[in-house]
Amino acid sequence: MTTAVSSVTSRNPADPSDVLVSFPAPGAFAAVAAVERARAAQPNWSTGGAAARSSALGAVAAALEAAADELTALAVREVGKPLTEARAEVARTVAIWRYYAQAPYEPLGAVHETAAGPGLLLTRRRPYGVAGLLTPWNFPFAIPSWKAAPALAAGNTVVLKPAPEATACARRLAALVEQALPAGVFTVLPGGATEGNALVSAADVVSFTGSTAVGRAVVHTATARGIPVQAEMGGLNAALVLPDADIEQAALHIAAAIAGYAGQKCTATSRVIAVGAALDPLREALPEALRAVAVGDPADASTVCGPLINEPARDRVSRAWDGLSVLAGGTVPGLPGWYAAPTLVEKVPPDHPLLREEVFGPVAALLPADDLAHAVRITNSVPYGLVTSVHSAGLDPVLHGLDRLDTGMIRVNAPSTGVDFHLPFGGAKESGHGPREQGRAALEFYTSSRTYTLSP
Ligand code: NAD
Repeated sequence: MTTAVSSVTSRNPADPSDVLVSFPAPGAFAAVAAVERARAAQPNWSTGGAAARSSALGAVAAALEAAADELTALAVREVGKPLTEARAEVARTVAIWRYYAQAPYEPLGAVHETAAGPGLLLTRRRPYGVAGLLTPWNFPFAIPSWKAAPALAAGNTVVLKPAPEATACARRLAALVEQALPAGVFTVLPGGATEGNALVSAADVVSFTGSTAVGRAVVHTATARGIPVQAEMGGLNAALVLPDADIEQAALHIAAAIAGYAGQKCTATSRVIAVGAALDPLREALPEALRAVAVGDPADASTVCGPLINEPARDRVSRAWDGLSVLAGGTVPGLPGWYAAPTLVEKVPPDHPLLREEVFGPVAALLPADDLAHAVRITNSVPYGLVTSVHSAGLDPVLHGLDRLDTGMIRVNAPSTGVDFHLPFGGAKESGHGPREQGRAALEFYTSSRTYTLSP
């Protein structure tokens, strides 16, 4: 996942003979050229006024909305996203641009009284310049958009380096975005690690989403340059099921969070922690719910679990349960792409890689806990801390104890997957670094504060 690529190639994961793009990687110089182009366009973009930026972002939303069916089909074909989820991602992408189209009018500062004497104190936020955005393949429209839209609203220009696996999606997104914006304001830079690293070495502010290993390297490079950086990284998310939970409902939510999009979401559930008497009924209900998940062609509207992104991912996921006691799942026969069945294992030794490293596939471990405190300790025992789902009949556990969970987000009686785009999104520990994405927090990340003292 982290290596340099000599050619940028993407294939349909449900039909690997279907190649969407294949061309030589542009190299590090292309990154430098893209940043220079964006830097030249930035002063006019940031000083052109709130109305111009607001209407341009609104025009992007309209262009994406008009192309929604085409974008949906492209996400299905290039990254194997099941049709229903692809459609929802495109709708959310349109909503993100619409939401940030209002942002240029919002105050990005405050007026203060002086501590002594006449005069005024002002604070004002200013864009950094060129935002370098590095994105994964699994949300090919929403993640580039939830980074680019606030960066642009705040007056930065943008260079987007998408994952090679999602190049066709990124190019189509860029074509639609560029039509609505002045030249140079939004540039897509295809490529892999070489181009990504060159972008981090040239941009003025960096936002990364991807694996923890790459995120750490990006943070290291950006921090050494003294530029602001945020990184949203991997997860090893837990679902806690309390004895008073509606077990059937919890099993359905958890099965969706394990198997939806073949577990290829940072928020997917990979550890299911059953507290006390919840274990036996959950051990019955969850395998049943997983066996009922529709696995198949992502273009089929009923599919929940489509293919994995590529062959190495399929091999990695299929090895994840080697030697373990399987309650549901295994391999999927008879489909041309890179598939794995939704899988639940039990009796997993505490030092097993499944409990230490992100698998990024539809695989989860069922773990017993004596009580809530024990379940919280298990949840916190991993280096990641993105999201936890909690399943319980009442809010008591949430109010009395779950504050000790070391994750950036907690979802009660809901799958661990799923995001509201207008709220801060991000993780603790090795799942996240720096300020949160989304919502108004994002506008602060893409701007620096300046204090003015105005004396008469
Ligand atoms: P990845 O880390 O391989 O790649 C992410 C991006 O970084 C890509 O654009 C890639 O080309 C680029 N890159 C790779 N090596 C680089 C380097 N050395 N320097 C600079 N850039 C480099 O991730 P992926 O396989 O595309 O996506 C899957 C991962 O993303 C999973 O770990 C998943 O959990 C994570 N993810 C996290 C979130 C979140 O918000 N926390 C959301 C979605 C995905």
